[in-house]
Amino acid sequence: MNTAKSVTSPRKFIIGKGLLSDLNTYTSVYGKKAYVICDEFILERVKEEGGASFDKGGNEATFVKFGGECTQEEIDTHRKAATDMKADIIVGVGGGKTLDTAKSTAYFEKLPVVIFPTIASTDAPCTALAVIYNTDGSFDRYLFLPSNPDIVLADTTILAGAPKRFFLAGIGDALATYFEARACYRSNGDNLVLMKPSWTGLGLAKLCYETVLQYGEQAALAVEQGMVTPAVEKTIEATIYLSGVGAEAGGLAAAHAIHNGMTAVPELHGVQHGEKVVFGLLAQLVLEDVPKEELETVISFIKKVGLPLTLKDLGLTEFKESEWRQVAKDACAEGDTMGNMPLPVTPEDVYNAIVAADAIANHYKNIDL
Ligand SMILES: [Zn+2]
Repeated sequence: MNTAKSVTSPRKFIIGKGLLSDLNTYTSVYGKKAYVICDEFILERVKEEGGASFDKGGNEATFVKFGGECTQEEIDTHRKAATDMKADIIVGVGGGKTLDTAKSTAYFEKLPVVIFPTIASTDAPCTALAVIYNTDGSFDRYLFLPSNPDIVLADTTILAGAPKRFFLAGIGDALATYFEARACYRSNGDNLVLMKPSWTGLGLAKLCYETVLQYGEQAALAVEQGMVTPAVEKTIEATIYLSGVGAEAGGLAAAHAIHNGMTAVPELHGVQHGEKVVFGLLAQLVLEDVPKEELETVISFIKKVGLPLTLKDLGLTEFKESEWRQVAKDACAEGDTMGNMPLPVTPEDVYNAIVAADAIANHYKNIDL
């Protein structure tokens, strides 16, 4: 059994205002020709602002619209186009699927990759993982990459301009990171690269939690106005870097396993990843039987920052026992991260924790903490 611990991370994480207009500065380290895959909504802006930086630097860039789904076909199309232009580097600008397409294209073409997220809603930018889908939108496979992205550029101007709901979802995902890493550390479980959780991983996860607790609320208010403040910047460091790297090195546990189970509930399909993770976290805290103060700190934060607290808040109109028994069963599936909990957990335990977590959430909903 491998007992070695790990910290894995992008080579560079850069955060600041207006990074888009400086794109060439970051890519030129790796070569003269960049192949840039962009989400449609930002394509023209990237061509204009990013393109000017390539012109100024005497380098070349091709800007291509992302097809909408990270499929093998989509990746193969970009591989061919990147080969045709003899690209030195792949750049992805957009949401998680666009970034995964850029990571995968770069991996197959053995080229460096620059990741430029336009929303701060998940851990996708920093991790060495891509999720590949079938053309009908169903899940195909995970692509485990041998290394993390070469550069992640967090442009606070763009990230703070995205809808607040995405920003909050990122905070929700980041809120769980510490509790999952702590559970995984206690159980000496496996982190996301299937090594043991390192002290550094746990430390990054802890800083992630402290940062969102301290700055998340005021950051969300600033983002509502489309403004970048120091609190917004710190929160983005937490949601994009600390949460991703902290989870990869520190490991996940019940919160994400329950999230994965919740994907089986049709009524929750429109719910953001991080919003479901928040409910998964409540259920994890019930399973762990944490001190009341800790539970109340988390609940108070969820309410103040404006994330959904109860299943009803998530949009569930009817709690069907059979559906949630299935969620509990899926959450305990072989190989999912429930195995990182410091105590044995059965589907029955998970179901009980889900029902109790929702009752607790409803109880606290109208109580001032
Ligand atoms: Zn997550």
